[in-house]
Amino acid sequence: MSATRPLPRLGPDNRAFWTGGEVNELRIARCGDCGGFVHPPRPVCRHCLSYNVAPHVVAGTGVIDTFTINYQKWHPAMEVPFVIARVTLDDAPGVVLTTNIVGCDVDDVAIGDTVSVVFEQQDDVYIPLFERTASR
Ligand SMILES: [Zn+2]
Repeated sequence: MSATRPLPRLGPDNRAFWTGGEVNELRIARCGDCGGFVHPPRPVCRHCLSYNVAPHVVAGTGVIDTFTINYQKWHPAMEVPFVIARVTLDDAPGVVLTTNIVGCDVDDVAIGDTVSVVFEQQDDVYIPLFERTASR
């Protein structure tokens, strides 16, 4: 896909998530009190309501929970088809990222495939996308 994605508006809560790719880090907000992950990033823990929430670097590996192949050219600059997937992270229980699977034919993607994060930079945002590392 080319550089025409709608980009998130960066703020104090989500900046770590969207800019971690600059140093190749996938950062998920985590509660310092109960250890729970908080995604999308928010200043308050959704598990225990603590404000002790801070970015935590995770491995960036996960599994495709489910996916769909998009054939609709929603924007003139978007290349289709592409895969929209929900990816669960290996070391961040409860976190599901909605993302794209890149670097392979869309027909090769399957539920249960293991994936690893790659970052696509646009302006000052590093969008976490995923590449397959192995099939089921
Ligand atoms: Zn908590």
